[in-house]
Amino acid sequence: MKNLNLLLIFVVFFFSCQSKNTTSEEEKPSKNSKEKFGIVIHGGAGTILKKNMSDSLENAYKAKLKEAIETGYAILESGGSSLDAIEKTINVMENSPLFNAGKGAVFTNDGKNELDASIMDGRTQNAGAVAGVTTVKNPINLARAVMENSEHVMFAREGAEQFAKEQGIELVDPSYFYTENRMKALKRAQKREKVELDHDDKTVFYDPLIKDEKFGTVGCVALDKNGNLAAGTSTGGMTNKRWGRVGDAPIIGAGTYANNNTCAVSSTGWGEFFIRGVVAYDISAMMEYGGKSLAEASKTVIQEKVPEIGGDGGIIAIDSEGNMAMEFNTAGMYRASMDANGKLEIAIYGE
Ligand code: ASP
Repeated sequence: MKNLNLLLIFVVFFFSCQSKNTTSEEEKPSKNSKEKFGIVIHGGAGTILKKNMSDSLENAYKAKLKEAIETGYAILESGGSSLDAIEKTINVMENSPLFNAGKGAVFTNDGKNELDASIMDGRTQNAGAVAGVTTVKNPINLARAVMENSEHVMFAREGAEQFAKEQGIELVDPSYFYTENRMKALKRAQKREKVELDHDDKTVFYDPLIKDEKFGTVGCVALDKNGNLAAGTSTGGMTNKRWGRVGDAPIIGAGTYANNNTCAVSSTGWGEFFIRGVVAYDISAMMEYGGKSLAEASKTVIQEKVPEIGGDGGIIAIDSEGNMAMEFNTAGMYRASMDANGKLEIAIYGE
């Protein structure tokens, strides 16, 4: 009898320990890295000043940034992939005339809209990019098709459009991209350029004022619940661009980069300097080889290295732990972030 009692006590003790273990295992997921997720977006950096912005325009920008980031956040929250989240988020901004990407892209010197975009998967480090397309409604979708359905990384101009047709990507008449504001910006840029050229026989194509007519490149970076990072960028480039000029947005390592071991980055700004500074990869490399945090690496690259070679602009980034960065050296950058707790931040100026 005594033995039986002892056995009973032992059995009860054993099962109560087991159930405790189960409970503590169940409590773990919230601290589990798989539950970390987040998303950051930008809608371009430049001389964006409160004094030049009406309340209604500011509200329109904030509302569109909110709609875009909430689109991607919903995908991440329900367990979707960072790639799906960034593509759908960027689509919202590409479809809005407020941003220099898709509808609302700036005009080239000869009055066309030539669009660039790229995407990168941090899990596989696979990437896709397109440059100079004129009929693709959502260039980020084509960049993703290049990544997933071709053995190449970058397609340009007619070839990219041919591939878009074969992939069943939505095409539009080039007139779809026309917006009056961007046309006025082109006219202003060309007038200034003409005045410059009349007074000086050197070509001043990258007059800072022309550069400042380009705001609105869009980008998105995300970390999903499976620990996968992704980055994407889409743009119309620079107002009054010529000669098939391509900026940093479709250049992997400059405008876009993602690596699950470090971070995902999307750039905006004066593309020539972001290409020369290999900005997005530089941030990742400082983390990988220099042991820097995302905040330190982003700050060094944007506040020191890019200005040192004469450039300006900004980046958004997120690391494999869900830390986020929104760093810029211009007066403003349209931006927003949402973390795993659903905390939303939207900002425009350098506050
Ligand atoms: N980086 C883009 C380009 O140079 C423009 C921008 O971000 O505003 O094409």
